[in-house]
Amino acid sequence: MGTSFGFPQVTALAKEGELECLAILHGESSLSATEIENWTRLVGALAHELSQPPTPSAAAGRTGMVTRIPEVLLVSADPAVAATLAPLIEQEGHAARPLATRAEASQALGQSLPDALIVDAALEDGSGYDVIDRLRALPGGEAVPVFVLGPRGGFLDKVEAIHGGADGFFEKPVDWKALMRRLQHLLDASQSHAARILSVEDDPQQASYLKSILESGGYEVAVCADPKRFETVLGEFRPDLVLMDILLPGISGYDLVRYLRQDERHAALPVLFLTTESQMQSRFRSAQVGGDDHLTKPIVPPVLLSVVASRLERARFLKNLLNRDGLTRLFTHTALIERAQALHAQKGRDASRHFAWVMIDLDHFKSVNDRFGHPVGDRVLATLAALLRRRLRQSDTIGRYGGEEFVVLFEGLPEPDVVHLMGRVLAEFREIDLEAPGKPSFRATFSAGVAMLTDEMTLDGWKKAADDALYAAKAAGRNRITSTADAPAISDRRRGGPG
Ligand code: GH3
Ligand code: MG
Ligand code: MG
Ligand code: MG
Repeated sequence: MGTSFGFPQVTALAKEGELECLAILHGESSLSATEIENWTRLVGALAHELSQPPTPSAAAGRTGMVTRIPEVLLVSADPAVAATLAPLIEQEGHAARPLATRAEASQALGQSLPDALIVDAALEDGSGYDVIDRLRALPGGEAVPVFVLGPRGGFLDKVEAIHGGADGFFEKPVDWKALMRRLQHLLDASQSHAARILSVEDDPQQASYLKSILESGGYEVAVCADPKRFETVLGEFRPDLVLMDILLPGISGYDLVRYLRQDERHAALPVLFLTTESQMQSRFRSAQVGGDDHLTKPIVPPVLLSVVASRLERARFLKNLLNRDGLTRLFTHTALIERAQALHAQKGRDASRHFAWVMIDLDHFKSVNDRFGHPVGDRVLATLAALLRRRLRQSDTIGRYGGEEFVVLFEGLPEPDVVHLMGRVLAEFREIDLEAPGKPSFRATFSAGVAMLTDEMTLDGWKKAADDALYAAKAAGRNRITSTADAPAISDRRRGGPG
C-alpha cells in the first residue's frame, strides 16, 4: 500500500512490524526488552517516514501537483511564423516546437502526441492537411486542437479548413493575438478543470485541515457541515469526489452514501470515508453502502492526496466509458442531451452565439441490413462515425442518438457554414465503397436536418426543429441536408412516414 502512495519505506517498516507481531503471537512469553525496543524503533521510523514528502517517482502525476507543460507543434516553412509565435506560446507557459516540413511533422507525431498543432496549409513537401490527417489518425489525436494558417482569400475557406479537421483557420497576415486567445481557450477546455471535492465533516477543525490539504493539491473544496444540507450542496457544487465523515449529527455517513447511490446520476461519483474507527468492521460497512475507499484519521496529507488523485482518475475513466457508445465510440444519447442542455443554457446567457443541432439518419438502412446482414450494417454505422470524428472539430459534440441516427451539436458556426460542412461530409460519405463479405462493394447515403437554436426555443423545441428538418430532407428524396430555413416547422407530421 505504502509503495503505491509514494512511501516505499513505510511498506518495508510495516512488513517488519507484521513479523514482530507474528513473533509475539506465536511466542509464549510476554514482551521482552528487545521486543519493546524494536517496537519503539519501528514506530519512530514510521512517524519519520510519514512526515516526509512521498518519493516523486511514485507520486508524480497522481497528486495533481506535478503538471506537464503543454507542447504546441508549429509547422511552417516561413521562419517568421516560428519567430513570432514561439515566444507568444512560451509566454503562456507552453512549449513551442517549430518544424519546417511535412516530413519533420510526421516524424514528431510518430514520437508523441502534441497538445495542439498549428500548421501552414501549404508546406514545401506537401499539404498541411496531410499533417492533420496523420494527427487525427493517432489514438487521442481527434481531441487535439488544430489551427491552419493560409493565404488571404486563398482557395481554402473556413469551411474547407474545418472539413480538413482544423478547429480554426487564420488568414495571413495572421492576427496573432486572436490566434493565441483561441488556442488558450481550446487548451483550457481540453485540460480538465480543477476537480471539485465535497467534504462532509461536522468538526470545523477537521474540515479546515482537510480543506487546506486538498487546496494545496490544486483542488476546489466545499465543506458540508450539516448533513441536512447534503442534497442541496451536492446539486449546487456538483463534486467530482466526496469525502465522507462517518459520525455526523443525527445521521451516519453510511446512510448519506446509501441515499446518494440511489440516484443514478451519482452512481460513478467516488466516495471516500474518513473515520477514526480503524477496525475491519467499518471497512465492510463502507463497501456495503457503496463507498470506494476508507481512510483512517489522523489523515496523512500525501496519502490523502494520492488516494484522491487515483480515485478521480479512475472515475474520469469510468465516466468516459459510460458516456461513449460501444460500437461507434461517440457520445451516448444521455451524454448528448446533457451537452445540449449546457449549450441551451449558454445561449440563455449570450444570445449572439450560434448553436446548431444536426439530426442525421441513414437512408433506407433497413434494406442495407436486409441485403448484407446486421453486422455489415453495424460497420456502415462505424464508418460514418469515424468520418464525422475525422471531419468535425474537437469542439463539436458528435453522438449516437439511436440505432442508425446520429446527432452533431455545433458551436460558433452560422447556419450556412453548418449546412455547407454537413454537405461536404455527405459528399464524402456517399463515395465510400463499403465492403460486404462475398458481395460486391456498395454505397450508402444519409439525410440530415439542421436547426439553429433561437432565443425563444426550448430544448425540446430545438430538437423537434432538427427532427422536422430531417423529415423534410427524407420527404424531398433523401441523400441531402435540409435546414429549418428551407423547411418551416412541420406541424402535422404523421407517424409511419420517412425517417
Ligand atoms: P429511411 O431512409 O426512411 O430512414 O429508411 P430506413 O430503412 O433507414 O428507416 P428507419 O430509419 O426507420 O429504420 C431504421 C432501421 O435501421 C431499422 C433497423 O433495421 C436499422 N438499425 C437500427 N439500429 C441499428 C443498429 O444498431 N445496427 C444495424 N445494423 N441496424 C440498425
Ligand atoms: Mg464527525
Ligand atoms: Mg434511416
Ligand atoms: Mg431512423
